[in-house]
Amino acid sequence: MTRLARATVDLGALRHNLAVARQAAPSARVIAVLKANGYGHGLLQVAAALAQADAFAVSCMAEASRLRLAGYRHRIILLAGYFEPDELPLFDRYALDPVIHAEWQLAPLERSTLQRPLDVWLKVDTGMHRLGFPAGQVCEVYQRLRSMPSVASVRFMTHLARADNRRDPTTRMQLETFEAACQGLSGERSIANSAATLAWRQTHAQWVRPGIMLYGCSPFIDGLESPALWPVQTLEARLVAVNYHRRGDLIGYGGIYACPEAMPVGVVSVGYGDGYPRHAPSGTPLLVAGREVSLVGRVSMDMLSVDLRSAPNAQVGDLVVLWGESLPVGRVAEQCGTIAYELLCKLTSRVQFRYV
Ligand code: PLP
Repeated sequence: MTRLARATVDLGALRHNLAVARQAAPSARVIAVLKANGYGHGLLQVAAALAQADAFAVSCMAEASRLRLAGYRHRIILLAGYFEPDELPLFDRYALDPVIHAEWQLAPLERSTLQRPLDVWLKVDTGMHRLGFPAGQVCEVYQRLRSMPSVASVRFMTHLARADNRRDPTTRMQLETFEAACQGLSGERSIANSAATLAWRQTHAQWVRPGIMLYGCSPFIDGLESPALWPVQTLEARLVAVNYHRRGDLIGYGGIYACPEAMPVGVVSVGYGDGYPRHAPSGTPLLVAGREVSLVGRVSMDMLSVDLRSAPNAQVGDLVVLWGESLPVGRVAEQCGTIAYELLCKLTSRVQFRYV
């Protein structure tokens, strides 16, 4: 029996989730966010499945150039813009859209002599306070960009800090700030991430930028799943041992879990060396033969242990679902005090990926 830690990516579910984004924002074009290796699913495989998107967004030159060299002719946006002025010719060579978010990016762009002027996105900080020009500077930066020979067109972008909470008024305030900052300036606009694509129609504008929803995860913090989305990734491993313990036996490193009674405990072939979170607490759910069981004790590098009392017929060799199917990765993430994004991005190269 070979060791198994396997992620299955459902390409049909990716396509379906793109269709959900389109239905939610019918008047907008869709920028599929593929950063961090397609949220950990494999950049080129995800791009192939989402080739119907109108544009792609990534966060670094390596990802953008891989997409271009693979033959994609989509608009490709580098969400973090450029870091070194000598990267600018690469935007030209690969026909990429930089996001211009800070003063220091302007002078190199002004000086550059590119063969083909760039389509740029002017990022406005409307309350996220990460990247972007303050609203009061937008008009001046816009005029400056428009005057540069290396700039062909200017579009506007902002990012929402709290769209994942449908009751939080911040999104409305950010939208008002954005509209005021860009008022009277011509150029397309993009505001919405997944949560806003699904829940904040007023933010749709000309381009929406969904990420996490494409991978089948609810973007909302209120625990409400988005039933229209299909789960994309299933992470599985195998039961490699089933042991019968006595009441009081301590399981794994540190002995932090004591068996409350005589019970079967399974050992599963996945651990933090595969990207499963080490800090997952006892009680984190998994599926064995379709039944929900609980993690017990500390996660090791290559293994973890599960309480098999609710799956008494489980046998060595059975597949165990860490997330996917009826167990949303968001539920596992919540138990671990993190978000689905992080769990998906952190799988290591030891996990075998297969695409169905
Ligand atoms: N736009 C920007 C600038 C982002 O940084 C991200 C992701 O963090 C997205 C869009 C997509 O966000 P989400 O995955 O929440 O849809």
